[in-house]
Amino acid sequence: MSVQPNTCEACGKPGVVSKTVKDFAYPTPMGLVTIEGETPIEECPSCNEIFLPGLLVEQWNRLIMTHLSRKTDELSAKEVQFLLKSLPYTRDEFCQLLSLDAELFRMLAGGAGKTTPHIQEMLRALMADTLGGTETVH
Ligand SMILES: [Zn+2]
Repeated sequence: MSVQPNTCEACGKPGVVSKTVKDFAYPTPMGLVTIEGETPIEECPSCNEIFLPGLLVEQWNRLIMTHLSRKTDELSAKEVQFLLKSLPYTRDEFCQLLSLDAELFRMLAGGAGKTTPHIQEMLRALMADTLGGTETVH
């Protein structure tokens, strides 16, 4: 039971190739962030989907979180969406920690819905925990 390493996760076809690109534009809630220098990526020749190595994504997400944790304004819907995708918690944990019901979680994870001061405050606390490196890996 193993997944072929070069099978495309998007279209399921084999033949995904590893390559490096220069100055890769990474889509984030704050718009495109250009990763300077050479970035290793994987590209599917069938559907042109691009995949990033997991460790690299984690590293970039931390950079974005560091930026967001310094923000004093309210987190935007896009930023909340990014955090729900990137923070190392499950849906059930988020619902419990942020006092969300399943419907509100779905909306926020989809980049819509309204946050409360409690949600904003808890997301900041979870970011701080995650960036502090004391969080256990799920
Ligand atoms: Zn593909």
